[in-house]
Amino acid sequence: MASLDYYEILEVSRDASDDEIKKAFRKMALKYHPDRNQGDKEAEKKFKEVNEAYQCLGDREKRNIYDTYGKDGLNGASGGGFGGFEDFDLGDIFSSFFGDGFGGATGQRRQRNLDNYPLDVEIGLTVNFKDAVFGKEKELKYKIKKPCKACDGSGSKDGKKETCPTCGGRGQISQRRGFMSYIQTCPTCKGEGEIIKEKCIKCNGLGYEEENISFKFSIPKGVDNGLKIRIAEKGNLSKDGSYGDLYVNIRVKEDSKFVRNGDDVYMEVPIFVTQAILGETIKIETLRGKKDLELHVGTKDGEQFILENEGIENIRTKKLGRLIAQVSIKMPKKIDEKQEKLLKELQESFNVKNNEIIEESLFDKIKGWFK
Ligand SMILES: [Zn+2]
Ligand SMILES: [Zn+2]
Repeated sequence: MASLDYYEILEVSRDASDDEIKKAFRKMALKYHPDRNQGDKEAEKKFKEVNEAYQCLGDREKRNIYDTYGKDGLNGASGGGFGGFEDFDLGDIFSSFFGDGFGGATGQRRQRNLDNYPLDVEIGLTVNFKDAVFGKEKELKYKIKKPCKACDGSGSKDGKKETCPTCGGRGQISQRRGFMSYIQTCPTCKGEGEIIKEKCIKCNGLGYEEENISFKFSIPKGVDNGLKIRIAEKGNLSKDGSYGDLYVNIRVKEDSKFVRNGDDVYMEVPIFVTQAILGETIKIETLRGKKDLELHVGTKDGEQFILENEGIENIRTKKLGRLIAQVSIKMPKKIDEKQEKLLKELQESFNVKNNEIIEESLFDKIKGWFK
């Protein structure tokens, strides 16, 4: 399909609210709907684009991924971790928007309210810094819920339920406080109006059992802290046989050496004072192995050296960030007699007099001498 930006397709700004996106979609979908544009190929194409754009921007998670990583992030091209994007059903969004009668879509909406637990599962995944930068295959281990076999998910031993004695089946109770009365969900039946007469022994009335799940998951290259990745149909099992989705919250451990800022990486490079004065080429350990760092004569404490393309690869643009090496000058803790003698000689050679403050430009002068 066309590689137009989703925001452009819906003609909304990148910071549009959920509501604005919804409205824009509704407008465009009605405009290009096949029923109103019989046989118009261009309108059909537009209609599909609008749908694709809304599938993404109308969903908080997908929109986040799209904003950060672009379409690649949603299609799973960068590691196969992201959930299927191609499995959407036009009928679904249409019936939720316009009612089942609109557009002749035959799609069935997934019946989800028959389960007494949410179908989506959310787990956290902590990865170390380098795995986040370079991607890695990880074993995901977690539990999913599925309907209890013994009671067919009802939680009741004999499948029977009885009217809740607390609310008399209404699912709500009213409470008086002074002259005010409040309506509350019934705490006994939790609004269902019915309670289980005899609990299923196997699941203790919960109606579900748990299953341990584990599968290999490819962490995409360049993921950052706080990213939420959706994996389709790896969540809880519904009574109707369908699965919810799994959401993986990425947490990246702090590294002892590297600090990330967007696609750039900062690191501190300790050097000895004489190296700073003399200037020399030293080896530093970057993200991708040892690299040369050329110190110039009179390198200052805190000075930053930028190594282009030695940062993190952006999933969306594939562009590499920068490595910023910040120098930290180390002084000797103690000096012996010989060193003292040498340093005094050095000091004299610079004409440094007692109590006289060294000018800022001194190092610049030295630099000049060596040129
Ligand atoms: Zn049971
Ligand atoms: Zn009740």
